[in-house]
Amino acid sequence: MRYKYCPECGAKLNGRQAGDDGLVPYCDNCKRYWFDSFSSCVIVMVVNELHEIALLKQSYISAQYETFVAGYIT
Ligand SMILES: [Zn+2]
Repeated sequence: MRYKYCPECGAKLNGRQAGDDGLVPYCDNCKRYWFDSFSSCVIVMVVNELHEIALLKQSYISAQYETFVAGYIT
C-alpha cells in the first residue's frame, strides 16, 4: 500500500527524496516518511499420506501451469 495521507495527522503527503529509496511519501507536519507497507500473504502445500501434492489450476492465469494454493490475508 502506498500512503497518500498521513496515518497519524491526516495531512496530504508529499514526495521527498529518501536516499536509495527515491521519492517516498513524507508528512511535513510529523516530519517523517511513510514507506510502502506490505500485504501479508500465505502459500501452502497440501500433501496427503501418499505424498501426492494438491495443486490449483487457475485458467485465468495460465492454461498450462498449476500452482500451490496462495493468496493475500485480508
Ligand atoms: Zn502527519
